[in-house]
Amino acid sequence: MDSEVIVSLKNVNKYYGTKENPIHILKNISFDVKKGEVVCLIGPSGSGKSTCLRTINALESIPSGQICVAGISYDTTKESLYKIRRNTGMVFQKFELFSHMTALENVMLGPTRVLNKTKSESEKIAKDLLDMVGLSAHWNKYPKSLSGGQQQRVAIARALANSPQVLLCDEPTSSLDPELVDDVIQILMKIAKSGMTMIIVTHELDFVQKVSHRTLFLDEGTITEQGQTKDLFQNPKTDRLKQFISKITHKNIF
Ligand code: ADP
Repeated sequence: MDSEVIVSLKNVNKYYGTKENPIHILKNISFDVKKGEVVCLIGPSGSGKSTCLRTINALESIPSGQICVAGISYDTTKESLYKIRRNTGMVFQKFELFSHMTALENVMLGPTRVLNKTKSESEKIAKDLLDMVGLSAHWNKYPKSLSGGQQQRVAIARALANSPQVLLCDEPTSSLDPELVDDVIQILMKIAKSGMTMIIVTHELDFVQKVSHRTLFLDEGTITEQGQTKDLFQNPKTDRLKQFISKITHKNIF
């Protein structure tokens, strides 16, 4: 594996709440993700996983710490935010497709607006990606005519359309009916196998064990355990992680 670092977080902190009563959400988070690596963030609800992913995509500002994506440091200037987002693709829990655009138009938007490709170049990129996610027969449909799983596959194609350096997936299957989860997982596995650098927040622990090289366990805003995925699941060191794996495996709700 190439050792080039694509995403780097150093002592990242994030607070919500008010100035008078700040709530510390991310507490000195530090980790690197190398080119081609697939890293999963797991942990109880409310532990800060989505917030962490959103900071990497520059959707949340941070009061302290450093984030660097593909060599670009997040410094809150519009230019750096634009450059960071140019290098990241994000898949959201609730798809976030534009409802007034067809699947094809949703995917073409990035290449046309961000990469300044011509209409026919963008169409080619979008059709190839929709084909890759198994939707070549549905490119002219609007989101409301597609199932949740199909909409999420369009969203994955859209996230890849700018050729990002890293694909960020925020609970990509949690809004889907159970029978549609597997289709989306299969597509994400295919993308991971193609060598894409990925950071995935998910509660699907079988998927985590199949797809990721490394797993980070977040609890109350802190990475309390991390390691090669196989080791982490076979030898969880903290009671908290043991308890989490056991509860999720037995389908308890967090
Ligand atoms: P996770 O993804 O692990 O479930 P989140 O990152 O979504 O956790 O949330 C971490 C904590 O931050 C939760 O307590 C959540 O309620 C809070 N939070 C998330 N987003 C906001 C927001 N925009 N404003 C205030 N609190 C928020």
